[in-house]
Amino acid sequence: MRVSDQALISAADIAARVAELGRALTAEYDGRRPLLLGVLKGASLFFADLVRTLPIELEIDFVQARSYAGTRSTGSVALSRAEDLEVSGRHVIVIEDIVDTGHTATVLLERLRGLGPASLALCTLLDKPSRREVEIHPDYLGFTIENHFVVGYGLDHEGLYRNLPAVHVMEE
Ligand code: 5GP
Repeated sequence: MRVSDQALISAADIAARVAELGRALTAEYDGRRPLLLGVLKGASLFFADLVRTLPIELEIDFVQARSYAGTRSTGSVALSRAEDLEVSGRHVIVIEDIVDTGHTATVLLERLRGLGPASLALCTLLDKPSRREVEIHPDYLGFTIENHFVVGYGLDHEGLYRNLPAVHVMEE
């Protein structure tokens, strides 16, 4: 496996889209002091860039989501820190790197809903709707992509490539 030389989504295109998402979130959440909840580790770069486009009062926190058997997208998802989050009565925006089968985001949103937020939204950088196993529609979306395994801009392959500034496809 190797990383494609050419980016699937360039750093400039990411920055432009992040700015657009920032404007949409600003219009919706100004005055509501939202809690932006980043899903570690993949959303870390997207999260850091996105919050800096929001000139509004907000708070941040993080949660970690993992598939049980060490494999991805198994449908059994473990969350760490979910119980520590102060979500009750808050306007919560979950910031994800990618929605693939949809299991991770579904489990996370269900868990958060049980903690009594005033509102709950999902914002993801990437969406692979062709792989969906459970129905879930992001409220805010950066880019829809084909069925590729992608790395960079926070996304890894076996722990590597999160630091790449653009999104690349892993090729055989
Ligand atoms: P889901 O539960 O929606 O199948 O998967 C979500 C998680 O699987 C993502 O948060 C991410 O960690 C991982 N994942 C899914 N597709 C990709 C991909 O193309 N590249 C990388 N690096 N991770 C992915």
